[in-house]
Amino acid sequence: MTTTSAPAIEVRGLRKTYGPVVAVDHVDLSVSEGEIFGVLGPNGSGKSTTVECIAGLRRPDAGTIGVLGLDPEKDRDALKRTVGVQLQSAGLQPKLRVREALDLFASFYDDPRDPDELAERLGLTERMDHPWRKLSGGQQQRLAIALALVGRPRVALLDELSTGLDPASRREVWKLVEEVREEGTTILLVTHLMEEAQHLCDRIALVQQGRILVADTPDGLISRTAAPLVMSFGTAVPLDPALLTDVAGVADVMERAERVQVACDDSAVLLVLDRLRDAGVRPEHLRITESSLDEAYLDLMTDADEKETVR
Ligand code: ADP
Ligand code: MG
Repeated sequence: MTTTSAPAIEVRGLRKTYGPVVAVDHVDLSVSEGEIFGVLGPNGSGKSTTVECIAGLRRPDAGTIGVLGLDPEKDRDALKRTVGVQLQSAGLQPKLRVREALDLFASFYDDPRDPDELAERLGLTERMDHPWRKLSGGQQQRLAIALALVGRPRVALLDELSTGLDPASRREVWKLVEEVREEGTTILLVTHLMEEAQHLCDRIALVQQGRILVADTPDGLISRTAAPLVMSFGTAVPLDPALLTDVAGVADVMERAERVQVACDDSAVLLVLDRLRDAGVRPEHLRITESSLDEAYLDLMTDADEKETVR
């Protein structure tokens, strides 16, 4: 099949309620083929419900979903052969052994991966004959990832990819996800880790209360914040932060590890240096870096909270 410009996942006006609870409220999203798309947001913001609707496991109240041109509700069988899903609550049969689970899931697809190789990659080789219920939390998590990827799916939906994994397993899972993408799989992943989102994702959607606040590249999200830059420098004598707080474009002035850190936008950089020069302060070992995705996340979420209150 040739690559088309049609998105691999296209969601329009998705709405899902549970009784009085509006879990997903008019969500639009579009994931290109071969993209790694991250979904980030607080607990209860509708991430899992969205994933489950895309996977055809829940029926939306309203909206349309297309996955590789398939309708998850109507084309369940076709979807099962092309999409891999890691659910947050992967309720497997407690007695199902690791090897049986891998073989079973591999049998749904036309061109599956070698289960042994995948198990080896995810550190499950020693556990192949263990029933699911006897695995540790981290092992169950790794098995869930293996089951989502064993079929070489064209689209993988990964809900809370690395929750509960130790740092070494997490790195291994990241490598695997990157390889899977290299092979052409489109990936939608839910994560709570900024580091993970920044490392893996081409684009990230921030969700809150069932709505997407913004979707952009990691750099794009950072540049949308009031303070996309951090100027950091030392000074020979302690500096009174008040010297810089009123400079246009400065959001915050902090002292960290005997350095001054100024969170600001582009326009403030020269103004800050002018102000320092006028005050006879020479910045030592000046560094200007991008602010982190962590800070951008908090800033964009807080902004939205404030708008919510005003409404
Ligand atoms: P997230 O994955 O972002 O934590 P969820 O999609 O799991 O969010 O949940 C969104 C909202 O829907 C929450 O308020 C949650 O309590 C509610 N919810 C989720 N699943 C169910 C369910 N099966 N029955 C009733 N309410 C649910
Ligand atoms: Mg969830």
